[in-house]
Amino acid sequence: MGRNYARHARELGQPVPEAPIWFWKPDSAIIGNGDAIVLPQGIGDVHHEVELALRIGRDARRVDGAEALEHVDAITAANDVTARDLQQQAKARGEPWARAKGFDTFLPLGDWQPFRVRSGVDLQALDLRLTVDGQVRQAGSTSDMVWSAAALLAKASTWTTLRAGDVLLTGTPEGVGPMRPGQRVVCELVGHVRLENPVVSE
Ligand code: ZN
Repeated sequence: MGRNYARHARELGQPVPEAPIWFWKPDSAIIGNGDAIVLPQGIGDVHHEVELALRIGRDARRVDGAEALEHVDAITAANDVTARDLQQQAKARGEPWARAKGFDTFLPLGDWQPFRVRSGVDLQALDLRLTVDGQVRQAGSTSDMVWSAAALLAKASTWTTLRAGDVLLTGTPEGVGPMRPGQRVVCELVGHVRLENPVVSE
């Protein structure tokens, strides 16, 4: 989903929406720790977006916020790689974001950390950090989310069935920016997950 952190919405010149903005990423976009993010030629700037990712463990349909996290079985750090120029064109034309968000390798996911409610991990007190070649680009906290992880999952489940194995991305804090071939990008759920990916051109 998009725009769950107010300062990130503002840095892109967008208002914080009254409801989450939903989009899909295809599973062919998924890569793991150490795999290369491949930038196709001629698509303009491609940005990093560090995010908390939730993995659904049990199908969720019209769940309420109080029970939503019972449907999550693991968490990790994600990079919601975005062809920003294509996305801005799509926004201007009122078109979907599928291509801007969905190229192969545009969803690096870290190793999954098992999650259970009452396991002691507070999903609204996690620090997110992203570095490019060691330089900090994004540093945020899930405490700044507009909609909590539980609220997002509950809202998504009002219109689609989230199936076991589905992954829900929860939005990115401010500081998004371009990645260039030859750089190394590290996404962290600080103290829990470290996801490192080199960037190459196709
Ligand atoms: Zn995102």
